[in-house]
Amino acid sequence: MGPPPIRTIKDLDDAGHDLRLWCYACEREGMIDSIIWEAFVAKGWPIELDQARRRFKCKKCRSSRDVLLVAATRPKPDREITWSNVVHAWFFSRKSKRLFKGAVEERRR
Ligand SMILES: [Zn+2]
Repeated sequence: MGPPPIRTIKDLDDAGHDLRLWCYACEREGMIDSIIWEAFVAKGWPIELDQARRRFKCKKCRSSRDVLLVAATRPKPDREITWSNVVHAWFFSRKSKRLFKGAVEERRR
């Protein structure tokens, strides 16, 4: 048996992957921690990949229509790059940003 199929953001998290957001209209990319599925659940949003992607907007073209969600290798703890800033750029709801920030801080404890 191979690994279970990945259908939701939670599946990505369980598999140890993060989310790569890719706007193919602008060729912009961003990464977020897949723990964000907790924020989605808290808001009652679907976590299936094809539905969750509509919650992300490209900062440049302001569209979510051309944004893809794909699995990304989770960054190592010593590479605490700017992906939390990327999240803020991509995730358009202020309330969700707070939820997400809480979730990430929870994980790092
Ligand atoms: Zn774009």
